[in-house]
Amino acid sequence: MAKNKLENLLFKSELFWDEASQAEQNQASKFSEQYKEFLNKAKIETEVVQESIKLAKQVGYKEVSLDPTSPRLHGASDKLGKNKKVFFVNRGKSVVLVDLGNKDLEKGANFLLAHTDSPRLDLKVRPLYEDGGIAYLKPHYYGGIKKYHWPAIPLEMRGSIILKNNQEVNINIGGKTNEPVFVISDLLPHLEKEKLEKPLKDAIDGEEMNIIVGSIPVKDKKAKERVKLAILEWLNKNYKIKEVDFVSADIRFVPAFEARDVGLDKSLVGGYGQDDRVCVYTSLQAFLQAKNKQSKILYLVDKEEVGSMGTTGAMSLWLENVLEYLLKQTNSELSVNDIFRKSSAISADVVAAFDPDYKNVFDEKNSIHLGKGVAIEKYLGYRGKALTVDAEPKFLREMMDLFEQKKVVWQTGHLGKIDQGGGGTVAVHLANRNLEVVDMGVALLNMHAPYELASKGDIFSAYKGYKAFLEK
Ligand code: MN
Ligand code: MN
Repeated sequence: MAKNKLENLLFKSELFWDEASQAEQNQASKFSEQYKEFLNKAKIETEVVQESIKLAKQVGYKEVSLDPTSPRLHGASDKLGKNKKVFFVNRGKSVVLVDLGNKDLEKGANFLLAHTDSPRLDLKVRPLYEDGGIAYLKPHYYGGIKKYHWPAIPLEMRGSIILKNNQEVNINIGGKTNEPVFVISDLLPHLEKEKLEKPLKDAIDGEEMNIIVGSIPVKDKKAKERVKLAILEWLNKNYKIKEVDFVSADIRFVPAFEARDVGLDKSLVGGYGQDDRVCVYTSLQAFLQAKNKQSKILYLVDKEEVGSMGTTGAMSLWLENVLEYLLKQTNSELSVNDIFRKSSAISADVVAAFDPDYKNVFDEKNSIHLGKGVAIEKYLGYRGKALTVDAEPKFLREMMDLFEQKKVVWQTGHLGKIDQGGGGTVAVHLANRNLEVVDMGVALLNMHAPYELASKGDIFSAYKGYKAFLEK
């Protein structure tokens, strides 16, 4: 073969900025403006659900409740009626959005999954105390954080508490510039001699990560723990909270950083919790905009960062609950297992981008690079491909051909070098249900750090790829 023909045999991965039209590149930067707004509004799982259903309602999705007795659900019907576009919220932390298309679920559905939770700091059940004249809240970290990232950065307090009278109080402090933020102190370098001897993993102890919440005491000089009392007084005055109420609370501390453009060319988005809100937002937009004949289901699911267990995680039978309900309401003869067997899914989660500063942990030729489009991962896993899904070749081929046809910029690769570590996604919990699934997502630099980076080209390519999948 002539040399130029031989070139066609090669598998090349191109940059979005070389491949996409100028119009599409403009679309990508526009898309990222709305995405940054979403990142700033929705920093914890309940807010991700709230913001997502707000967008769904705007295009006609109706809430159906599978639990009409729950005091947290208002105005939701427990009947499907003639609605084809509906959503089901699970305890405020997960949501399944469904568009039954024109065939209901008779031919299965195209599923997209992304997770609503991100690494953060939760609180212990007795978190409030005073030491050295400072009032603190004591956290327990959630998910795979690097502890040394968290001291000496501004934090926001977000979440909810159920008070004695079953009243739910929402808390959101630190997101606006006129609101206070919270900080974990760090040791000054001048006194760090002993600490510097420690390996990085032990540099910050979990019990040393305490969140400063105040330093002015109550007036009564005879009172004990006067600063703690003053903070309790403030909490009670503003939110009716007593100390015992921390037990029935979901309070999270997250970085108080605003999502911003990064770089002189503004090609990147920087922000907290892009794992996995970048896939939440892109799959949600794809879902709401796709013109599909086939039914489609978007499952935004909680607890991925701690193993997907529990009522709101991907292992929960709540998905079966929803499907069973839909089959009954549409008078279908199918079973839930029939639906899984007839369907296919994308597990939309972030992947590690090749980092030129840490080349030695990556196999560069098998790495995913910023800006080369949405990443398809055949498998992830740990030593010897353990704890992963190996996507079926036929399904992979279908996706590759679809993306070529729809001009979606895509790339592929693995997390890092063999035996350097590993990772998993919710794909396993779908595949275990006999649902055909492949991992596909956006590459991040700084994954799990308080400020993660993603390429606008990849963000847009993910949206375009998910939409092509739903419209197939
Ligand atoms: Mn993730
Ligand atoms: Mn993660």
